[in-house]
Amino acid sequence: MSYPPYIGRFAPSPTGPLHAGSLVAALASWLDARAHGGHWLVRIEDVDTPRCVPGAAATILQQLASCGMLPDAAPVYQSQRGTLYQQALDRLTRQGLAYPCSCTRQDIATALATTGHTRERHGELVYPGTCRDGLNGKPARAWRFLAAAVGQSAEVSWTDRRLGLQTQNVSEDVGDFVLRRADGLWAYQLAVVVDDAAQGISDIVRGEDLTDNTARQILLQRALSLPTPRYLHTPLVLGANGEKLSKQNGAQALLLNGPLAALTALNAAAACLNLPPASGTLTEALAQWVQRWTEQWALKSPGERFHHSPA
Ligand code: GLU
Repeated sequence: MSYPPYIGRFAPSPTGPLHAGSLVAALASWLDARAHGGHWLVRIEDVDTPRCVPGAAATILQQLASCGMLPDAAPVYQSQRGTLYQQALDRLTRQGLAYPCSCTRQDIATALATTGHTRERHGELVYPGTCRDGLNGKPARAWRFLAAAVGQSAEVSWTDRRLGLQTQNVSEDVGDFVLRRADGLWAYQLAVVVDDAAQGISDIVRGEDLTDNTARQILLQRALSLPTPRYLHTPLVLGANGEKLSKQNGAQALLLNGPLAALTALNAAAACLNLPPASGTLTEALAQWVQRWTEQWALKSPGERFHHSPA
């Protein structure tokens, strides 16, 4: 029996240079790929154009190179892949799993208030399904995914390599989520699922703040008959306010102007991943961490390494 190759990826949004938090996700995904003798790709997730900062993608690639992490293929840019996302949306629409929605945030809040069921998740209102049966003559704004047909459950269970069993009922906890936004931009959930499959990603290693998106992504994979990769969500670096480190709570751009600076930054990232401080040159340090990562995280058998959940 042959198994698909290990292909991992780091998928930064170019909203600014790498900081101590994003370097942890980059290092973990690189180490996991190297520990499995696999490929490591970089995908620039620049679909949310208003949040993208000109030049940030080039800076990130430069910072990764300074840390000795070079992708095994040319980076891909989501801003150039709209045709693939449109094809996926068309397919979901044909299957009756995507529908246009005319609701503004205010419409959603009003609809929820009338039913007395106002629910929120991470600041997002749980969509009450207003436009599921049609637009009633109103203009389409966004496109949504039908998380569960009436009477069906959208409960998804999956096993994270670090966090263990996770379960989420997407229709109850999130509702029918957006695939294409009212401003015409592609939603992260659709773009990430299409690209992970198109690039043959077998293993997703990313920050723990993204754990909550995984059930939605698995539902989309199933709807599009795509394989489900393995997932490993890594610990987060916290900012001064105890929340995930970000530009908003004081993350500094990493200044990686030489091997010593890179080694210092990587040592901090390694500590967050429970790896011991490494010594020697940058190359030697990376080799020590690959060795340690292999002992801690390598999947044992090829079957375990390449298990894909049934669609
Ligand atoms: N682009 C996302 C971010 O920078 C990461 C997406 C992912 O790894 O799935 O937060």
